[in-house]
Amino acid sequence: MSEIADKPQIATKPLKDLPDLQTLVALCKRRGFVFPSSEIYGGLNSCWDYGPLGIEVKKALKEAWWKAMVYDREDIEGIDAAILMHPRVWKASGHIDSFNDPLVDCKQCKARFRADHLGPVAKIEKETGNIPTIEEMTELLKGMNCPNCGSKGTLTEPRLFNMMFKSHMSAIEDEANLVYFRPETAQGIFVNFINVQQTCRRKLPFGIAQIGKSFRNEITPGNFIFRTREFEQMEMQFFIKPSENDTFFEEWKSSRMAWHESIGLRKEKLRWHQHGESELAHYCAKAFDVQYQFPFGWKELEGIHDRTDFDLKNHQEFSGKNLHYVDEEKNKFIPHVIETAVGCDRSILTVLADAYRFNDERVVMQLHPKMAPYKAAVFPLMKKPELLEPAQNLYQDLRKKFRTDFDVAGSIGKRYRRQEEIGTPYCITLDYESLEDKAVTIRHRDTMKQDRVAVNKVMDYVESGLENWE
Ligand code: ATP
Repeated sequence: MSEIADKPQIATKPLKDLPDLQTLVALCKRRGFVFPSSEIYGGLNSCWDYGPLGIEVKKALKEAWWKAMVYDREDIEGIDAAILMHPRVWKASGHIDSFNDPLVDCKQCKARFRADHLGPVAKIEKETGNIPTIEEMTELLKGMNCPNCGSKGTLTEPRLFNMMFKSHMSAIEDEANLVYFRPETAQGIFVNFINVQQTCRRKLPFGIAQIGKSFRNEITPGNFIFRTREFEQMEMQFFIKPSENDTFFEEWKSSRMAWHESIGLRKEKLRWHQHGESELAHYCAKAFDVQYQFPFGWKELEGIHDRTDFDLKNHQEFSGKNLHYVDEEKNKFIPHVIETAVGCDRSILTVLADAYRFNDERVVMQLHPKMAPYKAAVFPLMKKPELLEPAQNLYQDLRKKFRTDFDVAGSIGKRYRRQEEIGTPYCITLDYESLEDKAVTIRHRDTMKQDRVAVNKVMDYVESGLENWE
């Protein structure tokens, strides 16, 4: 065994879960996962930038989703549609008329609330599974004190607020050239249904997948990257015959839950929530959410929706274009759709929150290696040329295959702590003995187990460890 500073040891002290969201926000900023947007100007409410480590998690997550949807299956095509779409799209989709949240203001302290999140309304929703109507909300909120400043009788009656961001498509700002920033990526898929079906000569059932930005002028954004006004979605619309909704709904439910587990999320932190009658969105016949147990409670991570033929039927009506499908028996119909819709940013939050472990000695991000920004880190024991050179050679070799970090600063113990905090699965130390035995010490992040491995076997050792990760 080598003589490196941190002697082999077993992880005896139990590790605990993420205590609160602020702890994660602080780590994300300190280590370069996520920064507040425009921070030198004081930040912009609920806008966040991904740093050098965060972008790696984001890319890994999108890749894992794309692989599961497009590459591993033979029945799904990918697209990348424009964010700005013809304004009639949003009339047809129902967003202009129905994409509203109930807004309540405090006249005293100017705080703003979503009426359906306020105590008496939320209570009814929890008990019945239904969101009360705007009239019922008005009744329920009568006489309620402001949850922010405590003032009596200062809350306005709830009013509906459309959440789409608007802009104008030319220098002249008038109604005629109004455009909307898409509030969901799904519509880019629906308007391309015929294009994809025909160019790829697809037969039902088949799906179209897309990853892209969406924008919602949320009344109460917050909880870090859980709810923001600009965010990325990973959505897939699966086009089916009208009688097949229940079968495919169940298939997609189990396939999506399995995916969340495949990126490392703990089973016990995931559950299903079925939408009650009035909780259902205007386009939906049935909806189940995958919920995750965040530090701030069980919340939606992904939605599986039976959108029926709502979208294609409306686009056919509003565009005047034929969006029918003709099957082998020459039956002509508008396909139905099962949708899976997950937020990329919300998924990143889930991955980071789920991985966070700590005790009084260390913080370990127990990320699935697929999600880890670095797969390995190489340390020369000391900053001496005779160690630096072979360590650099090993590092240069490894980084051709997977993202590897190189660190010479501080004690070995400190370097381990730094890598644990960002979730690097393997740390590789080259010491004086390495010059004799041509071997290095590989330390496992989660167990702190150490193995002595021949330098020319390190690549295989790490690769097979990453591939066979439990
Ligand atoms: P919520 O009830 O949380 O507002 P939703 O039911 O409106 O979400 P969908 O329209 O079904 O959400 O969108 C699909 C997914 O997109 C959500 O499950 C979530 O992961 C993500 N998402 C939606 N709105 C936001 C947002 N403002 N910020 C980040 N992610 C979001």
